[in-house]
Amino acid sequence: MSSPERERSAAERREALKEVFQQARACTRCPELAATRKTVVFGAGNANAELMFVGEAPGASEDEQGVPFVGRAGKLLETLLGEIGLARSQVFIANTLKCRPPGNRDPLPVEIDNCQEYLRRQVELIQPTVICTLGNFSTKLLRGDPTGITRLHGQPEVLVLGTRAVRLYPIYHPAAALYTPRLLETLREDFKRIPELLALGAPEQPPLEQVPDLVEEQPDEQGEEEHSAPAAGAPVRGTVDGPAAEDQLGLF
Ligand code: URA
Repeated sequence: MSSPERERSAAERREALKEVFQQARACTRCPELAATRKTVVFGAGNANAELMFVGEAPGASEDEQGVPFVGRAGKLLETLLGEIGLARSQVFIANTLKCRPPGNRDPLPVEIDNCQEYLRRQVELIQPTVICTLGNFSTKLLRGDPTGITRLHGQPEVLVLGTRAVRLYPIYHPAAALYTPRLLETLREDFKRIPELLALGAPEQPPLEQVPDLVEEQPDEQGEEEHSAPAAGAPVRGTVDGPAAEDQLGLF
């Protein structure tokens, strides 16, 4: 199957995103995170957003509520969005890791690796024009390079992620700005450039024939999903019960 996402309608892509969400909710690739999490914090917002934010990992409040950026850093993110005339409901907010690392420790390289396929699918299905990476973890992951946020913040670049060309815009993580007024001012200045990036529209997309094929993996009978990659249209694995699980489908 060669990259079908560009030709799918927004409604079809949203349905496919829900399937990826269902896969993520049953994910046990990181045994420690799967054992300690309360919820899988997949992401929330407009499934057809022009602007996407990618943070680090859920904290305690996010783990409780199943929604990213609901704590103090999230309030700051909402304030900064408001200052450029955007509401949280207009953008899509996700994280590098979909599960909370215990004690809010840093994500481990193996966890980032295990989880990156979900983010890649989110980008392919949401088709944002601009992705703001918040802080070091998402910036390093999406750029595939160890250069840190201090050097890169405020410098947009066009990058091909999977099958999509996007405008990547690294900025400081709002949690860092909460504690350092100087960083808050820098973050605010960098935020002010987001509207002009959005106004540029989508960058030119790579020709379809250059887009790599998506490989669909089929789970085995037992649903032993460890280390297998979620793929577009792949069947939902594992069972998810309860009203809270259903509520989460209203996230986007
Ligand atoms: N910090 C993050 O990186 N993500 C969240 O969801 C909350 C705080």
